[in-house]
Amino acid sequence: MSNCKSKGRFAPSPTGRMHLGNVFSALLSWLSIKSQGGKWLLRIEDIDPQRSKQIFADQIMADLEWLGLTWDEGPYYQSQRGDIYEEQLERLRQQGILYYSYKTRAERLAVSAPQSNGDEKRNGNGDEKESFIQGKNGATTLKVTDEIVVFEDVHYGRQEVNIKEEIGDFIVRRRDGAWAYQLAVVVNDALMGVTEVVRGRDLLQSAGQQMYLGGLLGLPKMQYAHLPLLCNDAGQRLSKRDKSMDLGQLSQQYSAEEIIGKLAFLAHLTDKKEPCSPSELVSLFDWKKVPYDDIRLS
Ligand code: GLU
Repeated sequence: MSNCKSKGRFAPSPTGRMHLGNVFSALLSWLSIKSQGGKWLLRIEDIDPQRSKQIFADQIMADLEWLGLTWDEGPYYQSQRGDIYEEQLERLRQQGILYYSYKTRAERLAVSAPQSNGDEKRNGNGDEKESFIQGKNGATTLKVTDEIVVFEDVHYGRQEVNIKEEIGDFIVRRRDGAWAYQLAVVVNDALMGVTEVVRGRDLLQSAGQQMYLGGLLGLPKMQYAHLPLLCNDAGQRLSKRDKSMDLGQLSQQYSAEEIIGKLAFLAHLTDKKEPCSPSELVSLFDWKKVPYDDIRLS
């Protein structure tokens, strides 16, 4: 057994079938950690009670196994760890930095996919009603300070995130009790001993926010490595709506090795689109080969 402490993770939301972009993130996360001799864990991010379905979680696991992307730990279910989030929330509460917000749009954004924030503020600092009084039925919101988080992304290099200007106050628990992605992801990654987070670059700014929150909670730091996004032929990032790029369709047309071979080629790990398994790619993996620009599928 390896005594390497490196740990990566894949944290899919069970809201649909995986598409090629999700598989790209899973593959590169798996390769990066395996090339360090580390372990890879699977965490099902099912905190959004309206959109998460067990049937999608089961399908994601079957797809990962079919692709040869096997996990060493888990599956963990994010929804089953409420007591842990509660404890961490209490630590923030004791610092006097939580208040209750009554802005419904912010609530909706807080538990939806993090990238869906677009260019809208997660929470306005303007005219919404606010209350520091405990017990009010509002969304639990974190008051941010004027701070710039600086970090080194393994792939994209030095990043600066101005927390107050770019992020603003953000929700950690929704009015109906659902936990926000940002709190759950920070707490879980740190407490599960994750050392490296690999995912699409749409979450690059979220990494700054997550480091900020992790810092307030005194949690161990980890490394972030973001990836270029896969785009459809119209140049838009793949989404679960692009049915032709999801594994339901692709697995009818291609073998698992063909899909992995194509993704390895797109990541510049190989120079031919030849079928291969994830384990055959471990020795070829190198962050320096991976492109920076988004990748258009044609
Ligand atoms: N559950 C998130 C998603 O599927 C992943 C977030 C992350 O990797 O931190 O978009």
